[in-house]
Amino acid sequence: MNILVINTGSSSIKYQLFHMEDQSVRASGLLERIGEPAGRLKHSSIKSESPFVMEKHIADHETGMREIAGLLTDAKFGVIKNVSEVAAIGHRVVHGGEAFHDPVLIDDTVIKAIEEHIPLAPLHNPANLTGIRAAISFFPGVPQVGIFDTAFHTGIPRHAYHYAIPNEYYKKLKIRRYGFHGTSHSYVAKKAAEFLDRDIARTNLITIHLGNGCSITAIKNGQSIDTSMGMTPLEGLIMGTRSGDIDPAIHFYLADHSDLKFHDIDNLLNKESGLKGLTGTNDMRDILKMRREGSHDAVLAVDMYTYRIKKYIGAYYAALGKLDAVVFTAGIGENSAEIRALCLEGLEDMGIAVDSAKNESNKRTIRSVQAKGSKIAVLIVPTNEELEIALQTQEILRNGK
Ligand code: ADP
Repeated sequence: MNILVINTGSSSIKYQLFHMEDQSVRASGLLERIGEPAGRLKHSSIKSESPFVMEKHIADHETGMREIAGLLTDAKFGVIKNVSEVAAIGHRVVHGGEAFHDPVLIDDTVIKAIEEHIPLAPLHNPANLTGIRAAISFFPGVPQVGIFDTAFHTGIPRHAYHYAIPNEYYKKLKIRRYGFHGTSHSYVAKKAAEFLDRDIARTNLITIHLGNGCSITAIKNGQSIDTSMGMTPLEGLIMGTRSGDIDPAIHFYLADHSDLKFHDIDNLLNKESGLKGLTGTNDMRDILKMRREGSHDAVLAVDMYTYRIKKYIGAYYAALGKLDAVVFTAGIGENSAEIRALCLEGLEDMGIAVDSAKNESNKRTIRSVQAKGSKIAVLIVPTNEELEIALQTQEILRNGK
C-alpha cells in the first residue's frame, strides 16, 4: 500500500511516498519558492541514484502539485504507474482548533471547518487548504486525510488551556492554549514507551521538541496534559526566530515607545527574535561554534535557551507528579549533546542524571543516555512526523472512517 504525505507551506510543498508494508520511503521531494521567479523542485526516488532537480517558475500550488504527480508517475524518476496506485494522501494541517481530536477523512464539511480556523492560523491553514485542493485535483478519487498539529493536545484540561482573561474572549474568539507539534510529541512518546517496554497508557513523559520551532509537552498516562506553545506557536520556549514567553506588556510598551506598529511587533517576535535576535543566526550549529570561540552573545543565547527548557522541565515534573522519562527530539534535541547536558545540569536531586559518554555518542537511533542509578530515563528519540502522518492515514483507511 502506498501513502503519500503532503506538507504544504505558503510557498512550498514537501512530500514523501511511503510503501507501508515495510514503512520505506519510495520517493520524496521539496518544491520551494512557489510564485517566485525561480522556483525549485528536488525529487529523490528509489528509481534513480541522483535526485531530479528542476529550477523554473512555478506559478502556484496547483502547478506545483501537477509537477509532483507527474514526477511520481514519471518513467525515469517515478515509482508508480498511475496516481490511482496511491491508496490515500495524508495532509499535515496546522490548526484544527477544538474541532479535531483525531485524523479525519477530508470532505466538504472538513474543508469548511479548516477554513473557519483560518483566523487562528492565518499563515498556515490557507496554505494547507491550497495543498488539499490541489491534491484533490491531481489525485482524483484518492482519499485525503487531515492530520492536525493540534490534535494530540485536545485533551489538555481546562485549567491548563485557559488564559486568565475574561471568559467572553474564550467564548467569542476561542482564545485558549491549543499547542502544536502534536504529531511529533505523540510519535516520540509512543516510541519512548516501546523502547522502555512500558504501556504508553501508564507512562509519564516530558517530550522536548527542539527544531527551528521548539516546544515541550507534559504527557500523563500517554495523554498530553500541558504544552508550551499556546494559542499560536509563539508561546513557550526560545526558538530559532521566536521569542517564546515574554511579558505581554512589552507589546504595548513597544507600540508606545518605538516606531513599530502591531504588525511589525508580530513580525519582530515571530521572525526576528529567539536565537536569531540574540545572535544574528537561528542555526544552533553556528551558535555553538560561536560560543566555543567565545562570543558573549552566543554564550548568553545558549544560557537563556537551556535555562528556559530547564524551567519548563521543573514545572511539568510538578504538574505530572511522577515522571518516567525525559525525551529529546528534532534537529537540536537529537544532535546536540551540549544542549541536552545544559538543560539537565543540576537536576540530579530530582532524579535526572545524564551519562556524559552516552550523551556524546552520536548514534542516530533511539537511545537512553541517563547515568546509572538515574531514577528517570533520559532518551533521544528521532522524530518522524511524516511516517506518523502516514501511519495515522493508514489507520483511517483501515477503520473506514
Ligand atoms: P525544522 O523545525 O525546520 O524541522 P529541525 O528539526 O531540522 O528543524 O532542526 C533545525 C535545527 O537543528 C537548527 O537550529 C540546526 O542548527 C539544528 N541542528 C542540526 N544538527 C545539529 C547539530 N549537530 N548540533 C546542533 N544543532 C543542530
